Amino acid sequence: MTARLLLLEDDPAIARTVAYALERDGLAVMHSLLVHDARQQLASQRFDLLVLDVGLPDGSGLDLLRELRNAAATAALPVLMLSAHGEEIDRVLGLELGADDYLAKPFSPRELAARVKALLRRAGHGSPIAAAVPTVFLDDETGQRISLRGQPLPLTRREYRLLSHLLRGAGRIHSRDVLLAAAWGDDSESTDRTVDTHIKTLRAKLREMDPAREYISTHRGMGYCLDV
Ligand code: CA
Repeated sequence: MTARLLLLEDDPAIARTVAYALERDGLAVMHSLLVHDARQQLASQRFDLLVLDVGLPDGSGLDLLRELRNAAATAALPVLMLSAHGEEIDRVLGLELGADDYLAKPFSPRELAARVKALLRRAGHGSPIAAAVPTVFLDDETGQRISLRGQPLPLTRREYRLLSHLLRGAGRIHSRDVLLAAAWGDDSESTDRTVDTHIKTLRAKLREMDPAREYISTHRGMGYCLDV
């Protein structure tokens, strides 16, 4: 099974580099720019590892780490901390608070990927390299943008919501009703046909970016599934 990783990092350039390095190793990477978003993601989804920056626009990674270690569901989540070069105090605090590993910026993406793999192995995951086809979508929920293999997808607001929903429940079939609620809310003008039409344009955009793969499958009478 593909290991799922949450990256909490407010620097978009670093986030892109990290995501790219990890995607090559077959990991699924979700990205948050804010502590607030990461907290929501961690509460609603399963992750195998968290890469956590210390200095964030709406708080400290160290505070989030403390919270995670105090909650039963995330007490054992492997965490790799990232921090500004030379911030010795962060390193010490991070490790004291229960970070599993630590990297100071600037770091090489290969070094990070190696550490992540070591942590996953320690946590009982097989080699992520042996996992299925590497498929990486990077969902920037704050900016409402999704990238496929490092390339930002030109999505409308509805398409973003649809794909983001499919992505969060990757591998599961989502009924048209559920997708309708996720992307259109209470807009009663929308119908199942609306979902079908948007899935069609979404598929075309994904195909343009990656012609070799079909990411969204149709399950007759049931709905749609994002295959990873
Ligand atoms: Ca930062």
